[in-house]
Amino acid sequence: MDYSKKNFLDYVAVKDQDIVQTAHDFYDFLIWTRKYQYTLGERMLLNGSTPRGLILNQATGETKNMINFGSNDYLNLTSHPKTKQAAMEALQKYGTGTGSAPVLGGNFDLHQNLINKVAEIKHTEDAIIFTSGYATNIGSLKALLKEGDLAIVDQYAHASIQDGCTSAMVRIFKHSDMNSLENVLRLNSTGNFRTKIICIDGVYSMDGDIAPLPEIMQIAKKYNAFVYVDDAHAVGVIGATGKGTCEHFHLEGKIDFIAGTFSKAIGSQGGYVAASKEVIEYLRYYSRAHMFSTAMTPAAAAASLAAIEIIIGNQDRKNKLWRNINHLREKLLLNGFNIGSSETAIIPIIIGNDEKVMKMNNYLQEQNIYTHAVVFPAVPIELSRIRLSLTQDHTEEELDLLVEHLVKKGKELNII
Ligand code: PMP
Repeated sequence: MDYSKKNFLDYVAVKDQDIVQTAHDFYDFLIWTRKYQYTLGERMLLNGSTPRGLILNQATGETKNMINFGSNDYLNLTSHPKTKQAAMEALQKYGTGTGSAPVLGGNFDLHQNLINKVAEIKHTEDAIIFTSGYATNIGSLKALLKEGDLAIVDQYAHASIQDGCTSAMVRIFKHSDMNSLENVLRLNSTGNFRTKIICIDGVYSMDGDIAPLPEIMQIAKKYNAFVYVDDAHAVGVIGATGKGTCEHFHLEGKIDFIAGTFSKAIGSQGGYVAASKEVIEYLRYYSRAHMFSTAMTPAAAAASLAAIEIIIGNQDRKNKLWRNINHLREKLLLNGFNIGSSETAIIPIIIGNDEKVMKMNNYLQEQNIYTHAVVFPAVPIELSRIRLSLTQDHTEEELDLLVEHLVKKGKELNII
């Protein structure tokens, strides 16, 4: 069977067949795509998320040394001696797991230190931590927004935000478009909603652009809505001391709910919400992902805490990251690539043609450069792209090599 016209959306809630049959059909499709195209999950990093290392192609069984532009470990803190040391010490002292949910004894002094640190850097009264960024958004938004409430969500907000809002009425506004945001709020102003929350990412995960937070705050105030910011890709990257979007805009302590993850620049695992002490106490008891899930591992908590200290204590890594961002951006723009509205360490090469994206991605992999192809339905076809994540430890030579190959193949494919 030719599956070339099929995509992932074709296997969701298929009419007149049960889920096991659908899984069976999807499996056949997946095997076909593995043979003819690049698919997700084919590569396995054998040295962790380091900027260069051994990568196994599971489809072919081949292992190669590659330059890695696919990890969000922006400051390379997953492999920093201090974060590793902190994780090892926590492992020795507290063991491998926590044994229970936070309110049932799973919250150790270590977790409390992390909570205090998050509240301190976010300038809020308190904070709460979860086992992942995904659980953070699902867990907190599901507790904050119920039937009778309104979620006003940026079109490109992360999937976990969208999934967290499903109990409320959801209205989407055009990505970072303030007219669209205001229109949605105006149209729904007579709706008599109990709670209205505008949900955004601080830095968007596919485009690397920064949300216009001051404008969003003004509109929120006008329409009596709260603001929920997911700072996953902002911490460690923006703000004078790397504290994220609020610091970047000098809005510390002014946002109702600031969420984030410990899994990107912080280089560990878990997530958090920082807010007023009342909101945090409420979430402790009403967020099901917090109440009914075992607390994060001691090693992850300790590594997160150590990483935050490194981030705010010294700006060398962040400055090096920015030198890399500026260098690559300049070269890509000079060569005529479309990098969309990227402003940070996530740089998309927008190609707008799934086949060309696959060809470019396959070519880069052949040249020992690991990147991600992002195609429909993850993004509209006209915005399909190669997604690059930069880290502070990439060298200028590696960036130049990347550009050299992008230019060579880009010309051949008529992308530039
Ligand atoms: N929010 C955003 C904006 C993200 O990009 C991600 C990760 N892709 C998450 C939340 C989820 O975080 P985690 O990977 O820690 O579950």
